[in-house]
Amino acid sequence: MEKRTFQNYIDKIDAVRYLDSNRMLKLSKQMLSEAKQDKDECAQAWANYFSLEARYRLGKLDEKMLGTAAKVLQASRTHSMPELEAKILNMIGIFLLAQGDHVAALEYYQMAMEITKKHRYYGRVRVLNNNIGDIFMRMKQYKEALELFLKCYEQSVAMYEKKLATGKGEIGVYNINIAALNIAQCYCELGKHEESLAWLEKLIRDEEGFEENYYGSGKEVLYVRNYAKLGRFGQAEQYIENIIKAAEDGIEAIEMAEEYLSVCRILIEVDKLEQADRMLKAVHRIAGELNFSTLWCPYYETVIAYAKKKQNTAMLLAAYDKYMESQKKRDAFLEKQQYRGVKNRQALNAAMQKQKKAEQTQLNLKHLSEHDPLTGLYNRYVLNRESKRWWKRATAKESTVGVIVMDIDYFKQYNDTYGHLEGDACIKRVSDIIRDTIGSRGIVVRYGGDEFFILLQGRKTEEIIELSCAINSRLRTEKIPHNKSLVSSYVTVSQGIANGIPEQNQTMDDLTGLADNALYRAKEKRRGSIGVYENRDYRVITM
Ligand code: GH3
Ligand code: MG
Repeated sequence: MEKRTFQNYIDKIDAVRYLDSNRMLKLSKQMLSEAKQDKDECAQAWANYFSLEARYRLGKLDEKMLGTAAKVLQASRTHSMPELEAKILNMIGIFLLAQGDHVAALEYYQMAMEITKKHRYYGRVRVLNNNIGDIFMRMKQYKEALELFLKCYEQSVAMYEKKLATGKGEIGVYNINIAALNIAQCYCELGKHEESLAWLEKLIRDEEGFEENYYGSGKEVLYVRNYAKLGRFGQAEQYIENIIKAAEDGIEAIEMAEEYLSVCRILIEVDKLEQADRMLKAVHRIAGELNFSTLWCPYYETVIAYAKKKQNTAMLLAAYDKYMESQKKRDAFLEKQQYRGVKNRQALNAAMQKQKKAEQTQLNLKHLSEHDPLTGLYNRYVLNRESKRWWKRATAKESTVGVIVMDIDYFKQYNDTYGHLEGDACIKRVSDIIRDTIGSRGIVVRYGGDEFFILLQGRKTEEIIELSCAINSRLRTEKIPHNKSLVSSYVTVSQGIANGIPEQNQTMDDLTGLADNALYRAKEKRRGSIGVYENRDYRVITM
């Protein structure tokens, strides 16, 4: 029932995911509060992830997200949710990248990729190829980037074709085109201009919902750079005006500013100084408006080239000064960013550690609440919970539930003779024997002082009797001295067995009652024997 509510949330979130991030954030918060009430840790982790994703889409990710991300990551690992794990690793990568820590971002993307590949989340592999390629490109490692973008392109095309065939999927021509554009850029940077041009030709131009010009300046800049390098500036000329206008309009200004400068340098080389001047002014505005500190260096480098061409010494000297100044500022900025990246990683690690500790405490508490401290066996709380489940399952499957109740013989005398501490040690030794004998065949519970309870399922009565005899024989070899016992010189136990397929109107308590009676009969006949309830009758097996 609970699961259904959360599936409801997931469906709702999926519906607004790309359309309304505010709504997504709201839904994920509601989901989180319900998941908390239900103590459903998996749903909590998903809800936390959704809220991070929504915040990311809203541009609201801040350092506080690291704690939440660490929580989600830890939960995804504890509860084996690889899909969530891959997603949160990717999200952390995005965040670290935004903070300027390329190396750490790469690390997290690659972790995400490993899981994604292992579990064959094909769509995610495509996204990660794109993200990792993007980092390599920023690090100016174009060969590595190219390899990934080529894969990404192939995957995008395959997924798009599948979408056309089945009508399912979120992939668009846009994704294919972005991959092609990235490939063209890598080839251009690697000096393979014919290849770059060939990939630009692959761009599919018409997609509903996107303006013709959507990839505009990126694509056109590449045309210009390739043609210029191939000595065919005539062919490049047709794009220049559009590019300058885009720079002046500020469309995609942040991403494109450095590209605009590269076009500007071409313009200077071919003596188009008037256009170069306009471009410089546009970039100056972009760098100033966006306070884009790393842009000033390449900007003043370009101004220097411009001043040289113009043979304007005053301008040249001023530009040199500015260039030196901007270099200092850029270095300081990068250092700060690097510092911030390191801080983030430290914060993330610390958050992970804290989360791990909290979970360990939780686990310890859970262990404490389910186990008897003296023997380490399960307690009655677990017996209550499990016996109900087992009873239900056996009823449905029409299989048997078996019970052994067991009690140490003359234990009061044991305590009186050897003392309470020795008594404790004796209980511990007996419980070890029972646990070793039963192993994973059933659940062993410390029922009370010197009483034990064993829950079994799907066994014939004969098999259960064999287990009881095995416990007795282990006790005989163990030889725990008990010189006040009236049946042996060593510690013995009496046992009662009841086994059967749940009958109509019968409960687990009824079955336990039958086993108790069997134990009583065994004790009565001779301590150390085994009472068995079977076919509506009792019998006692004496040793
Ligand atoms: P019987 O053969 O009929 O089982 O006789 P008994 O002496 O074993 O009688 P009973 O089972 O009623 O006595 C249980 C005794 O176990 C009583 C109590 O003092 C002792 N006991 C209960 N819990 C503990 C414990 O945690 N440690 C120790 N040392 N003794 C315990
Ligand atoms: Mg006893």
